[in-house]
Amino acid sequence: MTRRRSAGGPAPRTLLHSVTLAAALAAGAPIETAAQDAPAYDLILRNGRIVDGTGSPWYRGDVAVLGDRIAAVGPALTGTARREIDVGSQVIAPGFVDVHSHGGGSIFEVPTAENYLHQGVTTFVAGPDGSSELPLGPWLERLEALPRTVNVGSMVGQGTIRGRVVGAADRAATPAELEQMKALAEGAMRDGALGLSTGLFYVPGAFTPTEEVVELARVVGRLGGIHKSHMRDEASAIVESVLETIRIGEEGGLPTQITHHKVIGPGYWGASAETLRLVDEARARGVDVTIDQYPYTASATSIHAALLPKWAQEGGAQAMRERLADPAQRARIRDESARIIELERGGGNPDNVVISSCPWDPSLAGKTLRDVIELRGLELSLHGAAEAAFWLTEQGGCGGVFHAISEEDLLRIMRHPVSMIASDGDIIVFGRAHPHPRSYGTFARVLSRYVREQGVLTLEEAVRKMSAFPAQRVGLTDRGVIRAGMIADLAVFDPATVHDAATFEEPHQYAVGFSLVVVSGEIVLEGERVTDARPGRVLYGPARR
Ligand SMILES: [Zn+2]
Repeated sequence: MTRRRSAGGPAPRTLLHSVTLAAALAAGAPIETAAQDAPAYDLILRNGRIVDGTGSPWYRGDVAVLGDRIAAVGPALTGTARREIDVGSQVIAPGFVDVHSHGGGSIFEVPTAENYLHQGVTTFVAGPDGSSELPLGPWLERLEALPRTVNVGSMVGQGTIRGRVVGAADRAATPAELEQMKALAEGAMRDGALGLSTGLFYVPGAFTPTEEVVELARVVGRLGGIHKSHMRDEASAIVESVLETIRIGEEGGLPTQITHHKVIGPGYWGASAETLRLVDEARARGVDVTIDQYPYTASATSIHAALLPKWAQEGGAQAMRERLADPAQRARIRDESARIIELERGGGNPDNVVISSCPWDPSLAGKTLRDVIELRGLELSLHGAAEAAFWLTEQGGCGGVFHAISEEDLLRIMRHPVSMIASDGDIIVFGRAHPHPRSYGTFARVLSRYVREQGVLTLEEAVRKMSAFPAQRVGLTDRGVIRAGMIADLAVFDPATVHDAATFEEPHQYAVGFSLVVVSGEIVLEGERVTDARPGRVLYGPARR
């Protein structure tokens, strides 16, 4: 989009009062302001409670937009606009920035990203958990060619890089392989990655020694990127995993972030007191470590990744099925899976594992592991639950939702000043499968449950954790704050009624209360309806900007 007048530059109006139009044109001044006294904008939102993203208290005022930028902000702005909207005392916030999203593939199916728009999200970052497109360049080009409502950037995944070079083997990389991986990381950064994501919990990331991650982190850090980790362990070894994430940042020389921080498993609840203490301690000695989280006490990932031991997953799906076909190995895997179901991701009970989707049998979506035990005539025990998980894996694998997080840890993490909100969700085809409600509800839920109902966060603090803070974290210095000169990504909502509607039982429900969403100065959602505008940008990282 072309900018018709730069905000905050020299004042052309003053100039135009003293010279002729012809002279003004000769001087290169814009023609459209020549005939008017008051400023002319494209859009003015009037009478809002402006929560500007910095954490400062809200103030009453108007926001004027010209082209793709915020041109003016303040009480009772003079001037006119092609479109003026009285927002009637609703909150005007910066559009929310989701730094952990799985929407990088599904955006091509649903370029309107409606489940995001309805909760005020205007930007998301794909490529989380060590998994991304590779090479990144061609994917970013395809994305450029796709008309879309929201802005999209991506991390590069360490697991994807390792899978390409070392495969799914449980071994250290050779020096030559390490050089290859460093070159791939550098290439992705030059293509436009925002940083490096790791998924050390998943295969093949799980087989990576910390030193190897540090080597890649150094490459990414030199090019201005950040590191974000789905940590190696979020249950019994969570403290060691936080130390490892801090170490990657400290030795890699780059900002590091614990993504979707939580404590999984009743056996380990309460550990966030210690993990947050470690974060504070690291920051005190100068390590740039931060946190993101989603506001739910259930997680979501594939059933086999969650419930089978890592060694059983080595070599990929076929190798995993072969191990399960061997009675002795199956018995060993069953013992370990039973322990994981009891103490970790299974939440101690097969009722706490809910199938989100099975591509090979959509009718299983929404059923619990207990339902599968009954369906298969298995024993109702931890071992029976493990067998149910094996059956699902053998049939082709399923996604699951796992209720195994305590509210106490969630609240402690949310209150911490260096935690931000991110959904870990996806762009959803409305009505398909039985997804975790976080894709529909995350940002609205923070505003309703944790701001309005429980007072865990102030409105301003919540908005900061969803806009300025995540934008700053991924280097988007021209977004995330309402201030003249910034790009006009805005979300308008009623703080008295905003809420998430999606539940674990009925996930396919858009969030409620967002009346207007603006991306790059264009209205993409109005009156809870998606407009025809497709102003979303592709966001490039520091090595390509
Ligand atoms: Zn993850």
